[in-house]
Amino acid sequence: MQIFVLMGVSGVGKTTLGVVLASRLDLPFFEGDDFHTKENIQKMKSGQPLNDEDRKEWLKRIAKRIGESSQRNGGVFTCSALKEKYRKFIQDRVQVNIEWIYLYDSFETIHERMKARKDHFFKPEMLRSQFDILEPPKYGIQVKVSASPEQTLKDLMAKIDKPEMGIIGLGVMGKSLALNMATNGIRVSVYNREVPGEEEGIARNFHEEYSSRFELPWFNDLKEFVEHLPRPRNILLMVKAGKAVDSVISELLPLLEADDLLLDAGNSHFIDTERRIRELGDKKIHYLGIGISGGEEGARNGPSIMPGGSMEAYQRVEIILNLIAARDKDGRPCCSYIGPEGSGHFVKMLHNGIEYGEMQLIAEFYHFMRFYLKLSLAEISTIFKKWNAELNSYLLGISADILQKEENGSLLLDSILDVAGQKGTGGWSTQAALDLGISLDTITAAVMARNLSGNKERRVKAEKEYEFRNEIKVTDSIKGCLFGAFKAAQVINHSIGFDLLFKASVEYNWKLNLSEIARIWTNGCIIRSGFMESLVEILKENPASHILMSSEIITEIKSHKDLLSEVVAMAIKRNCPMPVSSAAINYLNVFASAQSSANIIQAQRDYFGAHGYERTDSERGEYYHTQWKNTD
Ligand code: NDP
Repeated sequence: MQIFVLMGVSGVGKTTLGVVLASRLDLPFFEGDDFHTKENIQKMKSGQPLNDEDRKEWLKRIAKRIGESSQRNGGVFTCSALKEKYRKFIQDRVQVNIEWIYLYDSFETIHERMKARKDHFFKPEMLRSQFDILEPPKYGIQVKVSASPEQTLKDLMAKIDKPEMGIIGLGVMGKSLALNMATNGIRVSVYNREVPGEEEGIARNFHEEYSSRFELPWFNDLKEFVEHLPRPRNILLMVKAGKAVDSVISELLPLLEADDLLLDAGNSHFIDTERRIRELGDKKIHYLGIGISGGEEGARNGPSIMPGGSMEAYQRVEIILNLIAARDKDGRPCCSYIGPEGSGHFVKMLHNGIEYGEMQLIAEFYHFMRFYLKLSLAEISTIFKKWNAELNSYLLGISADILQKEENGSLLLDSILDVAGQKGTGGWSTQAALDLGISLDTITAAVMARNLSGNKERRVKAEKEYEFRNEIKVTDSIKGCLFGAFKAAQVINHSIGFDLLFKASVEYNWKLNLSEIARIWTNGCIIRSGFMESLVEILKENPASHILMSSEIITEIKSHKDLLSEVVAMAIKRNCPMPVSSAAINYLNVFASAQSSANIIQAQRDYFGAHGYERTDSERGEYYHTQWKNTD
């Protein structure tokens, strides 16, 4: 349901505009001032400004009413909500994403207008105090008030008229996104294919399950679905990445018209996306490749969204994407235009690459503690929780929960097979790094670790043959190394991932804003963490520098890198595999060594293949060849 809150200083015109907006949208109107306590009204009448304590009850009452309206048919509210914390206070108490409408004008203009008002308890002199505390939002709809309310309404409506969306594919993600859109007041129609005997009645069942709350027109006939959507159409594909996307597109093509827009929100390969953009562009059909992260829960309540393609196409659906996205700590949507071509899907791919690295890292520390330090799952869970009080990592948090999960009185994890597969995004990240000629050590190690885990039978046999023993005496000093070691490896894994984004941005001329990408990854997505929050600032200050070269990170890594070396050395000595952790320390050791081993590589190549080598005592790019063998 749509909830609009018109905010801004007193006298800016919230009530006038709110009443007409509500009537235009056929929504009930709620005047924010009506929620003030008697004491507050008295205070304002006597010319005293309200303090934060006075406002608390008022904001609570408004949030309660918004919550109720969001369960019914939505509403238009007014509330000055001058400070960010007031807006956050309200937003945190309601389930639906509020559409904030910030009305603004200069102090002088509003002051003049207020002087003309007679029947209002607010004294014009108090306007200055409102401007003093005003923190304009960086999100929402911003409207400068015009001389006539009609013009202001026109400007506002141009910004809030939401396009409709059709969704194809009602699997895990499609259903959740459809519900998220419907909850946020977007008109959404749904389609799922019928496969007799296998996939029957999916769209109808979905509609029936939610018809008491949402309209959700449903279709199992593609032609009827397409004809039902208003032109130009916006159709979100939420089908399995790969062949299914091409097959759906070819079914759709004869039904589409110029200017229709397809949004592929699955995990498609960015090269496929670029091909589809080109092919559909020839037919004047827009195509956006959209990365979405957050799993089922994120898709339902607010994912992180990474749209790539043409700006024109993006702007058509920007309002929808912003409404359904998660919010960052300042209340801004975790959605931002990534760049042209397949950049949205590339960034999503790399998001998953970092995710692979972080998951494997957590798995390695769990494995080391469980099978080598012989700690119980409960003890490890407690340790992870303690770490997470500082790190605030979504993946570490869920891992702590997993370690405690019981099934029929026993811990479930001990009954889960130790075999992990990999498909798609992790391996594609490695391929992309190879294509761009840069290192992706931790992410690649994570992908390979999953591959190697696959042959359980051989691992069981090999352990017997090699007679591995895995006892380490648990000492407090070993335990004391673990947290710092984990932190260092986590930082290195992220640094490696962002380096690939930087390289791709330059190589493909995408002009990626890495700080903004970190920002939209601070909530809604699987790799959200406290560290991601700090990356927003680090990358803002040094957008073109490797994260490991930022002074803050150098200090952090210097204080933890020996702990990481210690843990990895100890683990390897006891036959405990730590591929991502050791890849992290090895990466750092190469990254920060002025003298590498590559001089002998150059010499070897020149020896056997006459490839030439560069010299330390001449210009870069000048090649020399030596006759290495003594011919006499
Ligand atoms: P599901 O397997 O739950 O759903 C897949 C959907 O695709 C179903 O509606 C299915 O229809 C449809 N489909 C499959 N093949 C075809 C075809 N040939 N023609 C038409 N429709 C087809 O997948 P998810 O919802 O989990 O994932 C969808 C996409 O989102 C994937 O690309 C995935 O990688 C990506 N993704 C998934 C996330 C997750 O956490 N699950 C997170 C982020 C992205 P039917 O029911 O008839 O088989």
